[in-house]
Amino acid sequence: MYCDNDISRVLLTPQQIDNTVTSLANRISEDYADKNLLLVGLLKGSFVFMADLIRKLTVPCRTEFMAVSSYGSGTRSCGKVTITKDLSVNIDDCDVLVVEDILDTGITAACVTDILSKRNPASLRLCSFLDKPERRQVPITADYVGVTVPDEFVVGYGLDYDERYRNLDCLCVLKPEVYSDKA
Ligand code: 5GP
Ligand code: MG
Repeated sequence: MYCDNDISRVLLTPQQIDNTVTSLANRISEDYADKNLLLVGLLKGSFVFMADLIRKLTVPCRTEFMAVSSYGSGTRSCGKVTITKDLSVNIDDCDVLVVEDILDTGITAACVTDILSKRNPASLRLCSFLDKPERRQVPITADYVGVTVPDEFVVGYGLDYDERYRNLDCLCVLKPEVYSDKA
């Protein structure tokens, strides 16, 4: 791995990630047979997971992406969260599955699901590759969770620190000095 020196340990190997995604895709394929599935990935963190997940689904689906930010001054905001890129389709009659990289405080997912629920989807559920329940600030649980992780900052498989490490093929915990250098 190109950044071996920055990593304190590997939490999930590529094989473990693959097994996790396969089992999520199997459950989703079963639950969405005969539905009008629209996956809504939250950028940027979910794009790697989303790419793997859809290729393991055995039911028809469409994909869309949204980007949200905790900062900035957009027109549509919910608490601290602002939509920086909205959907380009109407979700009436769609069975919407929001796809997150990690559920941390839960604020992002709670806000996005709140906004989407007001657009009258046929159904609305949440799938998060990772869950960090110890950090939750709002009461939200995902309908589909890949792996529950401890309260440590993880990178890889789409998740970044300062826009780096998204391309790692495993999920890793960064060494503390990587943060303190930037502090
Ligand atoms: P929440 O709104 O649930 O607190 O945060 C969700 C977002 O925070 C995630 O989509 C992700 O971008 C970021 N985040 C939360 N925990 C971690 C983490 O451990 N590592 C990384 N790379 N991002 C995280
Ligand atoms: Mg992020």
